[in-house]
Amino acid sequence: MKFGGSSVADAERLKRAARRIVAAREDGNRVVAVLSARGKTTDELVGLAAEMSDAPDPREMDMLLSTGERISCALCAMAINDLGHRAISLTGSQAGIVTDTSHTKARILDVRADRIKTALDEGQIVLVAGFQGVSTSHDVTTLGRGGSDTTAVALAAAVDADVCEIYTDVSGVFSADPRIVPDARKLDVVSFEEMLEMASSGAKVLQLRSVEYARNHDVRIHCRSSFEDVTGTFVVGEQETMEHPLITAVTHSTDEARLSLVGVPDEIGAAAKIFTALADANCNVDMIIQNEPLEEGRKAEVSFTVPRGDLRVARETLEPIAAELGVDSIDAVPEMGKVSIVGAGMKSHPGVAAKVFQVLAEERINIEMISTSPIKISCVIAADKVPDAVRALHGAFELGAGGIQAEAPIGEQAR
Ligand code: ADP
Ligand code: ASP
Ligand code: MG
Repeated sequence: MKFGGSSVADAERLKRAARRIVAAREDGNRVVAVLSARGKTTDELVGLAAEMSDAPDPREMDMLLSTGERISCALCAMAINDLGHRAISLTGSQAGIVTDTSHTKARILDVRADRIKTALDEGQIVLVAGFQGVSTSHDVTTLGRGGSDTTAVALAAAVDADVCEIYTDVSGVFSADPRIVPDARKLDVVSFEEMLEMASSGAKVLQLRSVEYARNHDVRIHCRSSFEDVTGTFVVGEQETMEHPLITAVTHSTDEARLSLVGVPDEIGAAAKIFTALADANCNVDMIIQNEPLEEGRKAEVSFTVPRGDLRVARETLEPIAAELGVDSIDAVPEMGKVSIVGAGMKSHPGVAAKVFQVLAEERINIEMISTSPIKISCVIAADKVPDAVRALHGAFELGAGGIQAEAPIGEQAR
């Protein structure tokens, strides 16, 4: 059971999470719970670091950020003990989560769950601080924003759990962010394939890596509300999904940045140099556009997007490479967004992209970059246009609760 930040934001909510964990235990389950930092704690810790330094040392950043989830776990253990059960809180390191050494976005390499299993055998409820581990060089690491989801899935795999329940502030995975689209529809099931595309294009309800991990280790995810006791969304293998709607969801992100290298000499190996350097600096490059000059000897332009948080590092990484290659200039646009539509049904359906572009044109929204996969179409647009774009696409593809996709007979609806 994993409880996100807003589900443990204050004493009352932490106690509610504690009661829910205890109820699962009293139902006869052995329970491992992963908690996030309370409310906006992680943002506040990031703010504290920014008061100290423009470029905080990543190792120290992890020492700082990992404290938020430890607080939640220790407090929750106290509440559970008062409810007459025995609970033990563990840091990521104590829980045996071993990662690589890339601070602030470390990857899990191994989960040595012996201590968790022993505690479960002794009848204890185990609480694990989410979003963190210990590196192969014995330092505290964190797993990237939203990383508690990945902690939960990795532990579920390690203890061979029946299900990994992700308790959050919405009642499941929706056809769009319910904060932006009020009539978004809750999805009963979503395939790993679609959820991967949704998570990678901004549906932060599940961290991308948690979905990758679940697919690779065959973990059953149930994403559900921590406030009401209703069935949420199951993320399952494709063979288990019953329906194949053309479009499943509209996703978005408003924290993209675009970098353009203007005047790149048209020579073999230039792109390799640029993107190898960015990969080595651990920058997550998303969309890439390179235009090939028509005339021999002319220069090319290479543009790509990165998460806004990676912009500074990307720029610093590129400056020496650009000088070496003889690039004319590096331009950055920090305020970019992205809107995407995802659906396994579009694989065999022409015309979906054309409709997306038409809808955005009618909204007078300029598309700056486009990328596609067999089940996703993404457009980079100005960040401030994102909410309108999401609502327009959600409406045009009739994804809402009142749309054609909710045609269940009366009586079977909303059970
Ligand atoms: P937690 O703190 O529980 O980890 P997050 O804030 O990380 O929660 O993720 C839940 C949020 O994800 C929701 O409040 C919602 O605004 C947002 N979200 C974005 N896209 C979707 C979507 N398609 N379905 C559900 N929630 C979404
Ligand atoms: N507390 C971390 C964050 O805010 C991890 C998480 O909540 O999953 O990103
Ligand atoms: Mg989250």
